[in-house]
Parts: sequence; C-alpha cells; structure tokens
Amino acid sequence: MEKKPFVTKEQIEEIVKTYPTPFHIYDEAGIRKNCEDVKKAFAWNKGFREYFAVKATPNPFLMEILKDYDMGFDCSSEAELELSRAVGADGMHIMFSSNDTPACEYKLAYDLGAIINLDDITHIEFLDSIIGDKYPEIMSCRFNPGGVIKMSNGIMDNPGDAKYGMTEEQIFKAYAMLKERGVKKFGIHAFIASNTVTNEYYPMLAGQLFELISRISKEVGVEFAFVNLSGGVGIAYRPEQTPNDIIAIGDGVRQKYEEILVPNGMGDVAIYTEMGRFMMAPYGALVTKAIHEKHTYKEYIGVDACAANLMRPAMYGAYHHITVLGKEDAACDHKYDVTGSLCENNDKFAIDRMLPAIDKGDYLVIHDTGAHGSAMGYNYNGRLWSAELLLKEDGSVQLIRRAETLKDYFATLDFSKFSSDLL
Ligand SMILES: *Cc1c(COP(=O)(O)O)cnc(C)c1O
Repeated sequence: MEKKPFVTKEQIEEIVKTYPTPFHIYDEAGIRKNCEDVKKAFAWNKGFREYFAVKATPNPFLMEILKDYDMGFDCSSEAELELSRAVGADGMHIMFSSNDTPACEYKLAYDLGAIINLDDITHIEFLDSIIGDKYPEIMSCRFNPGGVIKMSNGIMDNPGDAKYGMTEEQIFKAYAMLKERGVKKFGIHAFIASNTVTNEYYPMLAGQLFELISRISKEVGVEFAFVNLSGGVGIAYRPEQTPNDIIAIGDGVRQKYEEILVPNGMGDVAIYTEMGRFMMAPYGALVTKAIHEKHTYKEYIGVDACAANLMRPAMYGAYHHITVLGKEDAACDHKYDVTGSLCENNDKFAIDRMLPAIDKGDYLVIHDTGAHGSAMGYNYNGRLWSAELLLKEDGSVQLIRRAETLKDYFATLDFSKFSSDLL
C-alpha cells in the first residue's frame, strides 16, 4: 500500500516557524479513527478493554485521547504508573505487566489498585513480603508456552528464548498459590510474538489461552475474569506489506471464543489487549531537515535528526519509510544513505534507499514513529530529546513535549566547581 504522510510540505513550512526540526508529530484524527476501529472489532465482547502499552509513547496528552475511548494503560515501571495516575486512570484501568520488578514498583501498583500481572511464580513470595496477606481481589499471571511459533505467512518468533512469563507447570501452581492467598478472580496474559503483520496472531494466541484456562479453571478451581492478549499486533512499516485488519482480527478471536470458552461455560470472560505499536505507530512521524549532502564512496544525505531521536533503525536495522515533502510524486531515482550526526556508523535512517533527488533544506518525513520512537530517545553524544507535537483534528498544532535543552541535559551534574554560561 502506498504510504502517504499525514502532513504536507505547506503545513510543515508553517509549523517550523514556531517549532524547528527535528520533531515527532502525531495525528489526532488517525489515532481517534483507529481507537474506534479497535472498539468496533471487539464490541462482541462485553468486558473488552485495550490497555495501551505506555512504554510505546509515554505522553499524557496522547494517553488522554485514548481515555476518551475508556481505554486503560499497561505499565511496567514507576514512571508509567505515575503517568497513568496523572491522566486520572483508576486501578481497573491500569495493568501492571512488569518483569524483574523492584519491590517499590509492586507497592505503587498495589496502592493504585492496578491489576497486577505476575511475570514469575517466585514473585508470589516476593509479593508476600511487600503486601503481607492482603492480596487484591483480582490478579493475573503471565504465560510463556516456550518453543517456537510460526504463522502461515512465515512470521515466527521464539518465546522459548524470551525472559518473560511462566511455564505451564508453574502457572497451574501459581494460580493455586494465589487462590490460597484469597485472590478471587484471575486473568491470564501472554505475549509471544512481536510486530506480527498477519490477522492470524491474536486468534491463534487466543485459542491457546482459551484451551489453557479451560483446563486451569477445572483443575485448580479458579474463576477467570479476563484473557489478556497483550501486544504484538504489528503495522506495515514497508509499503509492500498489507496492514493488519483489526476487524478481521477481532472476528478471529470471537470464533475461538465461541468454539472454546462458550461451551465450557466461560462466556463471560473479558478480552483485554495491551497494544502499543498498533495504537500509535502509524500516527506519528519524525520530521527532519536535510542539512548536508556528501559524495564519497556512497551518496549521503545528512539530516538534523539522529538515532537519539529514533533508535529503531540503528538498533534493529528496522525499516522506516521516508517521504521527501513536496517530492511525493517525483521518481525515486537516487540511492542514498540518510544519516544522523552521531559518531556511530549505525546512525542511518536508511541505507541504499531509492529516493527522489534531495536538496539541502528539504523536509523528510520518517514514517511510523508514533510508537517506540520518541520513547526510545537517548542522549548519546549529548544529543537532545526532540519536541513532540500534536496535529489536532481542527488542523492546529499543540506542543505536547518541548524540546530538551542543554540546561536539561546538564541538570544532573554539579557544575558549582566549573563555569558555564548555560548554568
Ligand atoms: C511492549 C509491550 C506491549 C506492547 O507491545 P506492542 O508490540 O507495542 O503492541 C504490551 N505488553 C507488554 C507487557 C509489553 O512489554
């Protein structure tokens, strides 16, 4: 599918008068339309709720939009819990799916009344030492089936190699231990494949979890309130990929539900999801300006953003589509490496990418940075966090995170012995 930016050259030329590049910009209309589709896809399930994975885009202004759709928040750290609290989420709207969890974070999640999703059986005794015998009414456990999973379009992942979740044997025991501690209702959670661009993933996972909880509820005598399919629903980063159809995905889950849970008398179990990427990635873009061209053994375009603003290409070799604004219809007859300024040779947003001829001053839109984009920012080379902007439905632009300054960067150093005009 052709990938079109949600902003035009004219809009960006206007925006940069106030907010210089680079910045991440988010599309409110796109976010809202997608939220409606997600709700529609699972409307057949009475208790359905999406808990947005806050780590993907930890910005309260964006979280607030999701709140309009009664969505909750999936957290795995103190900062994410605090953000959820700040936007007014109550306990039932916070899922705490953490791993290697510090005691103080369990305490905070517990105090907020969040649903605690345990990554490991040993965390039960760990929790005993934090909350004593006052266990919440409802708790969840994270399952890891091990092995390798494969879907028909060749997508595969390797849960057996992942640090998360409990084995089947452990999870049966964990539910029994929690039942002994007075927990009344239970959830199950599993995240076994990442960025799946196939409508098969959720239905396949749902089928496995529905079978498993049917057995657990009989053998351990516990009542399941929800099945949490977690994240992993992917997006089409490349133009040749076919995007997921969330309506088809919801329907696939419904079929498994009617096939497995309903006949087992479990037709009131709620479906939860914890999507991050699918909720935000396509609705964010990194906008950057071409500031250099270089002709050596290859052709380079240097831009004013770098891997500190978007780490995925450097970290995973991830593909992010690039549009040169104003040249949308020009022939892609130039082969470039598009680079940032870090003193690291992996600081390249694209390698050997066919693009239109780029001139200094052109604005480049790097697509699909709405999740795991700004969130993975860092400060190597003293590069600063870029601003985040929200393109509102009425066409206006709101600054939702200002750009970091050198003063911010130096704030944790004690400069009293040194001198700097910045401090
Ligand atoms: C990262 C994460 C998610 C979101 O994953 P996406 O692939 O962005 O949808 C959900 N749940 C947990 C526990 C996660 O760690």
